[in-house]
Amino acid sequence: MIAVSLPSSTPEPARVPILSRHWDEPESWTLRSYMGQNGYQGLKAALRLSPDEVIEQVKASGLRGRGGAGFPVGTKWSFIPQGPAPGGDGTPHYLVVNADESEPGTCKDMPLLLASPHTLVEGVIIAAYAIRAHHAFIYVRGEVAGVVRRLRTAVEEAYDAGLLGRDVLGSGFALDLVVHAGAGAYICGEETALLDSLEGRRGQPRLRPPFPAVAGLYASPTVVNNVESIASVPSIMRNGPDWFREFGTEKSPGFTMYSLSGHVARPGQYEAPLGITLRELLARAGGVRAGHELKFWTPGGSSTPMFTAEHLDIPLDYEGVGAAGSMLGTKALQIFDETVCVVRAVLRWTEFYAHESCGKCTPCREGTYWLVQLMRRLEAGDATEADLTTLTDVTDSVVGKSFCALGDAAGAPIMSSLTHFRDEYLAHFPHDGHPGGCPFDPEKS
Ligand code: NAD
Ligand code: SF4
Repeated sequence: MIAVSLPSSTPEPARVPILSRHWDEPESWTLRSYMGQNGYQGLKAALRLSPDEVIEQVKASGLRGRGGAGFPVGTKWSFIPQGPAPGGDGTPHYLVVNADESEPGTCKDMPLLLASPHTLVEGVIIAAYAIRAHHAFIYVRGEVAGVVRRLRTAVEEAYDAGLLGRDVLGSGFALDLVVHAGAGAYICGEETALLDSLEGRRGQPRLRPPFPAVAGLYASPTVVNNVESIASVPSIMRNGPDWFREFGTEKSPGFTMYSLSGHVARPGQYEAPLGITLRELLARAGGVRAGHELKFWTPGGSSTPMFTAEHLDIPLDYEGVGAAGSMLGTKALQIFDETVCVVRAVLRWTEFYAHESCGKCTPCREGTYWLVQLMRRLEAGDATEADLTTLTDVTDSVVGKSFCALGDAAGAPIMSSLTHFRDEYLAHFPHDGHPGGCPFDPEKS
């Protein structure tokens, strides 16, 4: 075992960046570098408290799940049966980190894992301690082999340093952490499909309830949290819940990673308090690419209803985006300028959802197939207005009638594009001597 000397904690200013503050430092991913960044100070603070007190701190911070749904993290942890570990009745508890980031446009967790895997490992140890779990898993996208390697190296470093294993930092708390690489199915990012996959089965969603907090991995109480949610915990433990609440809004406190991609001058990860607007983020990112203007954008990846230039000043928090008719989701802000055909963009997304449908339920398995056929005809200019009605009808029979959220996701871009850009669909029909087809030049977008 390597002796770890923990530097004394230094107060952090209540301003961003927090999660990405050290990403530019040389070898920021190593334990040595992380230790110089107040690393594992949050764990040290947590181990001075009882597990219930840690849960209370996270609850008081108001931290909401960063995987998309925004469920309060401390509340989720408190659903795990209380009592001495493992479980009052001998049932083990598990912690599972969802690092199967695959939502189109979503690319916030992988940079964090590459630049600072120990932030996640520290958060995992704190969360496992709080929910009295002695086994934790990180389920990571298998396609990103470099991320998997970096995480495994970080976990090995943590074992060697006595941060994981039979006696975490001499506290008597035991924790084993396994990094598990997925096999490339989008649906395995759905928490219950992920659990099936982790158990060695084909990843398909389970009926909820029971939620994983009641019956999760191996039918035991399990907390499933997103990477960014868990990585936010060490700073809360270091600085306290009031510090965290100095960022963001009352109902959406804290800071978060916004991913800007597409037709933006400087795409990338932008850490900011919740409630910032796209107008403000674009100002930091150099705006829409030179000579072009914003046409439409997604607030949280393709599964969230799209917005237009009219929505630039909506606060990017759970309430603000929700009130405007969409969802904050993964905060994947995909920017499209006026050169993009919205029908073609929606077709691509629809093809993605049809390809990734797991086939378990009929509305999604059959419906997404037919949505692709209709969208292809519309994009090619072979459709009529009656096909637009059929598109709406088929979407309606998928959304809200499918077994899991993938069906709803498939319908979101279609319905929102019809709301904002119906004329553009009509422009694909034959009209005024125009033979029909896409009026946009793909070479220019
Ligand atoms: P959800 O609202 O059903 O659940 C959110 C979380 O809260 C889950 O962990 C669930 O177990 C828990 N929960 C909810 N109610 C509970 C209760 N009564 N008791 C105990 N636990 C409870 O959302 P979801 O279907 O899990 O996720 C949908 C979100 O996933 C969408 O917002 C979407 O943006 C996001 N998403 C993310 C990615 C990605 O790559 N990160 C991919 C696809 C979708
Ligand atoms: Fe599978 Fe789609 Fe049904 Fe979800 S909605 S269970 S992905 S077929």
